[in-house]
Amino acid sequence: MSKKIVVVGAGLAGLSAAKNLVDNGFEITLLESRSVFGGKVSSWKDSDGDWIESGLHVFFGSYQKIFDLMKDVGCYQNIDWQTPSIQYKIPGGNGFQIVSNEHLPPPLNLLPNFFFNHQFSISDLLKYCRAILPVLLKNQNYINAQDDKDFISWVKQFGVSDEMVKRMFLPMTLSLKFLPASQISAQVVLNVFKLFITNPKGFKIGFLNGAPAEKLTGPIVQYLEKRGAKILLNQKVLNLEITEINGSKSIRSLQTQSGDNFDADYFVFALPTHKFKKILTPYFEDIDYFKNLSNFKGVPVANAQFWVDKPITNDKRLHFGTGSITPVFADMNLACGDYKTPKGSSLIETVIAPAENFSGLSDEEILEKAWNEIKSYFPNDSMNAKVVKSSLVKIPQSVYAPHPNLEKLRPSQNTPIPNLFIAGGFTKGHEFFDSMEGAVQSGLLAAEKLIEKQAFNN
Ligand SMILES: Cc1cc2nc3c(=O)[nH]c(=O)nc-3n(C[C@H](O)[C@H](O)[C@H](O)COP(=O)(O)OP(=O)(O)OC[C@H]3O[C@@H](n4cnc5c(N)ncnc54)[C@H](O)[C@@H]3O)c2cc1C
Repeated sequence: MSKKIVVVGAGLAGLSAAKNLVDNGFEITLLESRSVFGGKVSSWKDSDGDWIESGLHVFFGSYQKIFDLMKDVGCYQNIDWQTPSIQYKIPGGNGFQIVSNEHLPPPLNLLPNFFFNHQFSISDLLKYCRAILPVLLKNQNYINAQDDKDFISWVKQFGVSDEMVKRMFLPMTLSLKFLPASQISAQVVLNVFKLFITNPKGFKIGFLNGAPAEKLTGPIVQYLEKRGAKILLNQKVLNLEITEINGSKSIRSLQTQSGDNFDADYFVFALPTHKFKKILTPYFEDIDYFKNLSNFKGVPVANAQFWVDKPITNDKRLHFGTGSITPVFADMNLACGDYKTPKGSSLIETVIAPAENFSGLSDEEILEKAWNEIKSYFPNDSMNAKVVKSSLVKIPQSVYAPHPNLEKLRPSQNTPIPNLFIAGGFTKGHEFFDSMEGAVQSGLLAAEKLIEKQAFNN
């Protein structure tokens, strides 16, 4: 008889775990607290029928397992790959771009454009090359050893100027982890660099050609349901029922807010870090593995969408903003096939970070600040542009904050509780941290460990 598994959380980590377990013949129930699946990559329609997104999401060419998953469920073709380049915008209207030269192998592909974009002094560029050389020449041990420093301390060792840090690295780290470079482990940033600059596909950027609910998570859910998995929305897990056999604890069942009970042979929790602490720690607070979870904290972030009555750019690429709160944005009307609005208008979507100082501001004030900064990147074209409608999604605790010295504390998907496994970008065994790829890899790892445990138990 197939074993029963309850997966908690229908973000990409939970969906990935469920998909791999269903493929291996397990009976799956997936519980999601919200009325939509997808977690941080969720989307839903507002009362006008427009899609609202939790966050602006792009795929990088170095991702692997999420592409395998998308191919298996038949939605890989929903990614629109763009020419490999990133456009940096500076308030006032100037900008520069980093473009990969397709005729050169990595890392040489980035050099010509980098040196000739006239943004940084030759001395700065040489210092940057000196800094990055160990990432290219030394092995992974060198990168791993940099976890005790923040990225700014690391890059400053090589004499890189404040100007380069502000223009180039700040938008990058704010876009990737919603934190300034001074708060991120150098190891984490260097790992991302390595993926970008040593992988021939690393610099490719792709957008979904529509809403994630239709183009990404929807097809995964359909795949699961076709194979008998039960996916239940509005089922917020609150409590656990624990059994103890010979002094060893395990989970017998879960109780949700609606009062339903779910028992199973195994449980996979795929939640944001603060939810792990809230739900699991009270039952297992005497166990170091669970105490360790308190080291992982979510970063606040917000995502805004502006429907505008005229185009303010004709560039469909991903933009890095060098202002103070809009580090990454795109015109989704151009970048994303299905979002096309009537001719002449645009749909600017931007991540808002750092967001920790916004607690005293109203949504209108946050939106106004963000829109003013977006306009400053396109002073001429945005002059008479009017925002017809806007949306703001705030996530007080989003991806985990990869501060220095955390790497060695990342927990395994295997917990000390014999029938409990966890998934999420912060769990160890992959180098994609809290990203769509990291979430999918963590779900896959949790499933693999559960399958191993089940084989052992047999
Ligand atoms: C603004 C923004 C932009 C981003 N951009 C990118 C990008 O461009 N590229 C990229 O690769 N990554 C990006 N990311 C990161 C990416 O979205 C996440 O790393 C990934 O989606 C995390 O998936 P997850 O399944 O681990 O967690 P989550 O998506 O948080 O899923 C957890 C799920 O658990 C559910 N849940 C919580 N509590 C309970 C409970 N008690 N009972 C039942 N269910 C519960 C939640 O509702 C949620 O659905 C971005 C993130 C944000 C916030």
